[in-house]
Amino acid sequence: MDSSQFREAAHSAIEEIANYYDDLPNLPVLSSVTPGYLRPLLPDGPPQEGEAWTDIQKDIERVIKPGLTHWQSPNFMAFFPANSSYPGMLGEMYSAAFNAPAFNWICSPAITELETVVMDWVAKMIALPECYLSKGEGGGIIQGTASEVVLTAVVAARERILRRRLAHMEEGEEKLDKMAEMRGKLVAMGSEHAHSSTQKAAVIAGTRFRTVAAPKEDGFRVTGASLRKTIEECKKKGLEPFYFTATLGTTATCAVDDFQGLAEVVKDYPDIWIHVDAAYAGSALVCPEYQHLTPVLEHFDSFNFNMHKWLFTNFDCSCFFIKKRKDLIETYSITPSYLRNTFSDSGLVTDYRDWQIPLGRRFRSLKVWFVLRSYGVKGLQALIRKHIGLGEYFHSLIASRKDIFTVLTGPDFALTTFTVNPPKPRGVSETAADQPDPAHESYTNDFMADAEGQYRENANQVTKEVYEKVNSKGEIFISSSVVCGI
Ligand code: PLP
Repeated sequence: MDSSQFREAAHSAIEEIANYYDDLPNLPVLSSVTPGYLRPLLPDGPPQEGEAWTDIQKDIERVIKPGLTHWQSPNFMAFFPANSSYPGMLGEMYSAAFNAPAFNWICSPAITELETVVMDWVAKMIALPECYLSKGEGGGIIQGTASEVVLTAVVAARERILRRRLAHMEEGEEKLDKMAEMRGKLVAMGSEHAHSSTQKAAVIAGTRFRTVAAPKEDGFRVTGASLRKTIEECKKKGLEPFYFTATLGTTATCAVDDFQGLAEVVKDYPDIWIHVDAAYAGSALVCPEYQHLTPVLEHFDSFNFNMHKWLFTNFDCSCFFIKKRKDLIETYSITPSYLRNTFSDSGLVTDYRDWQIPLGRRFRSLKVWFVLRSYGVKGLQALIRKHIGLGEYFHSLIASRKDIFTVLTGPDFALTTFTVNPPKPRGVSETAADQPDPAHESYTNDFMADAEGQYRENANQVTKEVYEKVNSKGEIFISSSVVCGI
C-alpha cells in the first residue's frame, strides 16, 4: 500500500467507522455467535499474495462485526464502561502513524514532554494534591491498564522496603541472600473487594497476598481498624506487610475505602506503600462535588485511574501518579550502554522507561491532549454528571419496585447493585424478607435463621436466572457479582 492507496483506504475506513457509530443504538449489544464461529470463515493460513484493501475491508462486515460486543452501545451497562470518543480516535490515528516507542527522551522529545505536561493537567483537573505534580518530587505516567500500574507499584514497593531495611548492608552475596530471605516474608494486601489485579501482581512479584476484610456492615469498605488488624496478624506470624491497594470505587459495588482511617494507620507503618486504585470512579473527580476525596491522598504513595474507562479516551490509558518518582526510578532504572545518551546522563530529562516495566511505550498522551482540548474540563464534567444523573434515575426505578428488587448498594458513581426478590418462603416474616441479611438480629431463633438462609439462597438463584435471561436476549448487557455471599 502506498500513500495514495492509503489515503483512499483510510477515507473509506473512516466512512465505515462513522457509519458504525451512527448505527450503534440499533445493534444488539451482545453478539449471538457460538464459540469457534470465526475459524470456518477464514482460510487455513495467510494469503501468499497480498490482497486489495477493498477485499480486506469487506471482511469487517462478514467476519468481525457478527462477533463484536458493542462496548460503545448505549445498551452496554456491563462491567465498567470503556468510553471512546472521536478526538480519542484521532489521537490513536496519529500515534499509529508516528509509531515511535519513546522509552528515552531522545527517542522522541515531544512524546515524553507532552506526557509530562498532560499528566500535570490531569492531576490538576482531578484535584490531586500538589505532591503528585512533576514540579516537585512526583509526577504522572500513562500506562496501559490499571493492572499494569498495580504490578508496577507492587514491585517498586517490594524493592523499596528491601532497600530501606537492608541499607546498612554492603553490596554483595550476603546482602543478596538476606534480600531473598526477606522477599519470602513480604505480604501485599488488598481489600477482599479489591480488583484481582493486586493478587495477580503479588503472584508475579513472588510475594504473599492477604485480603483485608471489608464486610457489609462497613459498606464493603476497608476501615483503618480492619487494615491494622491484618497488618498485626501478619506481624505476629513474622511476616512483613509492605503494600496495600486502597480502592476508590471497588469493582463490585463502587465502595470507597476509609481513606482517613487508612492515613492514620500509615503513620504507624511508614514502610507500607499505599496505592489508591480508582480505575473507574476516579474520572468523577473532574467534578468538584467529588474532590473532597482527594486531599487525603497526600498521605499515600501512588494513585491511578483509567481515562479509558469513563473519561472518553480510547483504550488504553491508565494514568499513574506517584508522589516520589525516585521510588520508581530506583527500582526500574537499569541502563546498559545502548540506552545511554548525553541527555539522560545530564539528568535534565525524563526517561519514562525508568518508571515502568516494559521498555517501549505508546504515544498515549496525544489522545489525552485531544480529549482535554476538545471537551474542555467543563465538557467532561457535564458528561460525567449526565451519567451520574442517569445512574440516579435507574436507581430510582429499581428502588420504586420493592416488590421485585432489593437495592444492595448505590447509586454510587452511577453504579447501582441490586438483587431480585424470590417468592417469600413460608415462615419468613415481612421484616426478614425485606432485610435479607444473615447477620440480622431477628434471626437469632434457629428456625428463622434456616428460613433466612433458604431465602438468601433463593434470592441468589433467582437473581442469577434473571441476570442470565436479560443478557441472553442481547438487548442490554449487565454484569453480576457476588459480594459477601450476596
Ligand atoms: N481496578 C478496578 C477497581 C477495576 O474495577 C478494574 C476493572 O474493572 C481494574 C482495576 C482493572 O482494570 P484494567 O483492565 O485497566 O487492568
